[in-house]
Amino acid sequence: MLLGAHVSISGTIDKAVDRAHELRCTTFQIFTRNPRGWKAKKLNDEEVEEFKKKMREYNYNIAVSHMPYLPNISSPIQQTFRKSVSSLIQELERSGELGLNYLVVHIGSHLGKGLDIGIKKAAEAVNTALSKVDNDVMILLENMAGQRNSVGSKFEDIKRILNLIEYPDRVGVCIDTCHAFAAGYDFRTREAIENTLRDFDEIIGLKLLKVVHINDSKGDLGSHLDRHEHIGMGKIGENGFRELFHNPYIRNLPLILETPVDSRGDFSTNLAKCRELYL
Ligand code: ZN
Ligand code: ZN
Ligand code: ZN
Repeated sequence: MLLGAHVSISGTIDKAVDRAHELRCTTFQIFTRNPRGWKAKKLNDEEVEEFKKKMREYNYNIAVSHMPYLPNISSPIQQTFRKSVSSLIQELERSGELGLNYLVVHIGSHLGKGLDIGIKKAAEAVNTALSKVDNDVMILLENMAGQRNSVGSKFEDIKRILNLIEYPDRVGVCIDTCHAFAAGYDFRTREAIENTLRDFDEIIGLKLLKVVHINDSKGDLGSHLDRHEHIGMGKIGENGFRELFHNPYIRNLPLILETPVDSRGDFSTNLAKCRELYL
């Protein structure tokens, strides 16, 4: 079972690997830097070595990084777009230095200029970044919850971006269960999951699904709310996740929690819940 959580890099970046190991994660996700802000300090060589050493020690074969919060690769505003592309290039390089497999990217917002523009910009951003950085890190487009002006909440929109990619073997998809549910894709029953995956397969192709973000949803089906909930306590519910973990396709993918940390639970309780439902 490849199950993990988004762990903090606070202190030094290699501490993230210790945190994942302490949680008994078999995969994990990080931000390679503070996600709130545009600037990033260069990675320290010793920390990178230590990070990679711990990855080997604890037998991590698959680990993921996530883009910081501010970049918007679908932005129609030239300055924001340029900064976002720089940031994507930088994160691609940093992920490569750390030996990570995937970089998850939010597709972003067209800010009212229309889906066609957003899709074009997102593809342009990914193509530019991949033309500047030559490494083994695969960019994963993460589906959105369908908030106003967002790009990529529908499988069709993600497919339109993929159609414009000039490096098809370097781009895949990360599905966030909370975002997908909020966008109207149901996961509450075995049949609903099979339908959602059939849609994904017909429109995008299951081969391209590389990582699943495992989050329950505070918002209802189709609510367009990006509000993560503890596994089993949200609108997808325990049964949905039990069925999801028993789906032969999903079961074998890297599954990463981005659940809340509050008085009702933390990663440890959510991981325990997932392991119980996975059996
Ligand atoms: Zn995300
Ligand atoms: Zn996510
Ligand atoms: Zn989210």
